[in-house]
Amino acid sequence: MLGEGILKGLAETAKNFAGSFVSKERLTTVEYPEDRIPTFEAARVFPFLVYDARNPGDENDWEAGLRCVACQICEKECPPKCIFIDKSKDKKPDALGKQQFYPTRFDIDVSVCMSCQICVEVCPFEAIKMDNEFELSTTDRFGGLLHDRRQLAKSNEYYHKIHPTEAAEVDARLAEEKAKADAKARAAADAAAKAAAAAKPAGGGE
Ligand code: SF4
Ligand code: SF4
Repeated sequence: MLGEGILKGLAETAKNFAGSFVSKERLTTVEYPEDRIPTFEAARVFPFLVYDARNPGDENDWEAGLRCVACQICEKECPPKCIFIDKSKDKKPDALGKQQFYPTRFDIDVSVCMSCQICVEVCPFEAIKMDNEFELSTTDRFGGLLHDRRQLAKSNEYYHKIHPTEAAEVDARLAEEKAKADAKARAAADAAAKAAAAAKPAGGGE
C-alpha cells in the first residue's frame, strides 16, 4: 500500500512518545550533562599513551613509565598524519627492563585525528590505546587540540578502568613476554658462567 512505510514509522514514533511518559525503557534521551549514559567498554574516541606506574606519588612517574619507545611506526601509519614524534638521543629501561629510546616529543592533533585506531593496531609495544574521553571542546581551535605527551599519558590503572577486558589481555601478554625475556637472560648468564668456569685452568693456577 502506498505510504505504508510512512504510517508504520509514525506509529512507532507515537508509541515511543506516549510510552516515554510511563516506561523508562522508552526514554531515548537523558538530561546531559547532569545525566550520563554509561560508556560502553568498546567505545573509542582519541588515543592516549599508557604508562606503567613505578613510583606512585612521584609527579614524573608518567614519564619514567611510558611504554612508548619512539619507534615512530604509528606516526608513519597514521592516515591523516596527526602524530608528531621526536626520538630521544639516550635510552631508558622499558617495562621489560630493556634499554630503549623514548619520545622527547609525542603530540597528537586531535582536531585532525579520525579515531581510526590504526596507531593502536600497529604499535608493537602496547603503548598507545584508545581513550573514551570525549569532552575535549576548547575555544582554542589549534593549540588547544594539539595534545602533548603529558596530556596523552594515562596510567595502566586508568586503561583497566575504561577497557578492563582488553587491558587484562594486554597485561597477560606482557607478563608472558617478560617471563620469556627473563628466562632468556638467565640462560645467557648461566651459559656465560659455565664458559668462564670451563676457561679456568684446572687447579685454579695461572
Ligand atoms: S586514531 Fe587514527 S587518525 Fe587518530 S592518531 Fe591514531 S592512526 Fe592517527
Ligand atoms: S606509540 Fe607505539 S608505535 Fe607509536 S612510537 Fe610509541 S612504541 Fe612506536
